[in-house]
Amino acid sequence: MTTSAELRASFLDYFEQRQHERVASSPLIPANDPTLLFTNAGMVQFKDAFLGRERRASNRAVSSQRCVRAGGKHNDLENVGYTARHHTFFEMLGNFSFGDYFKREAIEYAWDYLTRVLALPPERLWVTVFEDDDEAAGIWLKEIGVDPQRFSRCGAKDNFWSMGDTGPCGPCSEIFYDHGPSIPGGPPGSPDEDGDRYVEIWNLVFMQFNRDADGNMTPLPRPSVDTGMGLERLAAVMQGVHSNYEIDLFRHLIEAAAKATGCTDLADKSLRVIADHIRSTAFLITDGVTPGNEGRGYVLRRIMRRAIRHGYRLGCSTPFFHTLVEPLAREMGEAYPELRASQSHVERLVKLEEERFAETLEHGMRLLDEAIADLSGDQIPGETVFKLYDTYGFPVDLTADIARERGLTLDVAGFEQAMERQKERARAASQFGSAQTLDIQIQGETDFCGYDRLQEEATIVALYRG
Ligand code: ATP
Ligand code: MG
Ligand code: MG
Ligand code: MG
Repeated sequence: MTTSAELRASFLDYFEQRQHERVASSPLIPANDPTLLFTNAGMVQFKDAFLGRERRASNRAVSSQRCVRAGGKHNDLENVGYTARHHTFFEMLGNFSFGDYFKREAIEYAWDYLTRVLALPPERLWVTVFEDDDEAAGIWLKEIGVDPQRFSRCGAKDNFWSMGDTGPCGPCSEIFYDHGPSIPGGPPGSPDEDGDRYVEIWNLVFMQFNRDADGNMTPLPRPSVDTGMGLERLAAVMQGVHSNYEIDLFRHLIEAAAKATGCTDLADKSLRVIADHIRSTAFLITDGVTPGNEGRGYVLRRIMRRAIRHGYRLGCSTPFFHTLVEPLAREMGEAYPELRASQSHVERLVKLEEERFAETLEHGMRLLDEAIADLSGDQIPGETVFKLYDTYGFPVDLTADIARERGLTLDVAGFEQAMERQKERARAASQFGSAQTLDIQIQGETDFCGYDRLQEEATIVALYRG
């Protein structure tokens, strides 16, 4: 079996042998982009090189980048526990060309690496290009000789990439692995492509144009390449399993989570969520995020509380989550020494959050269970959702997660009205001295800090409106 660690090393070696500078993963908090919540792709640390603002010693690079997609434009939090292929934290393998090679070499490298180095059978791979990209289509079909039966042209949603509304952009070409007809889902571009049979493993982005404020696209003088391949998805392919959660790395974490929670069913969804969330939690804390009520800290808190609630679902009402930091450091500490260095700090913060949430989790669950028992329809009332949020520290997405497990939805409009009323009360209180403000401070499960947390929650809630 090829382990995740071996695959990571093999990818880095392959491109290093082809004159790519081996660059370490950057932290999860982007150094050069205040608008980005977390590092969510390998290209983030190279943004300035792509924009031509930075000249690097080498115009080729390779990395294995730690990524978090749990907020902002890329948010996979809702997918965790529901798809075989999404994590909040994952590693993205990538090779990059800064104005050096372009489509032909990028495609040749990718195909050579997958079919020769890893010996994947071409008949299990499926390739897509952007609908207008005849150049890439020609390379795949005529030069590489990909079977037209396993090739499709797709629209801009999946196959056109841009850094922002303006700036570098260009078509992509993606490579999928076909896990076989026993798994539901159609090929890319088909109406039922959302199944997990065809799993996207590698995205090759060809940065070809510069888009101006009027939407005009002019060719870049030095087109570039940015690629990203999920290490866990590749490991699943190479280890002959369908789900990322069955690869070596996750098996060990899931076993540790089972032991910590006393759950004996290793296929239980909650164990997968917990194993996923300990990775994002530990790496976010290692990179300097602390659980809090706004911004990055609130995303972290939401991830942690979700994991803690899944432990509770498995019958665990005492702190357990922090005990998973040690097995994680054992699993990933070699590739990420910073994880080992921060282990005790991470354990302490996770345990504190567990203790803090334990005080209200049980009461909140009781309230929610009662509300659900009283339901006539299939919607949890907004008042209940708000009370859970406001008094018991249940982020709305946590309540939504529970609702989804039970085939229910949330009354989002009702929640928003309750939140509005709360704001009104706070506004009135701040006009009439401190007595009522104090009241709110005591009622809130954490320090009342103005509207930030409410605002944050409002943006999250908007996601559930669909
Ligand atoms: P998907 O369509 O499956 O959500 P994506 O198109 O959003 O993937 P990209 O933004 O193209 O993904 O990222 C490049 C690669 O990173 C993907 O091809 C995939 O292998 C990997 N990847 C993306 N998101 C995740 C995730 N949440 N968990 C694990 N791997 C991921
Ligand atoms: Mg995605
Ligand atoms: Mg995709
Ligand atoms: Mg993609």
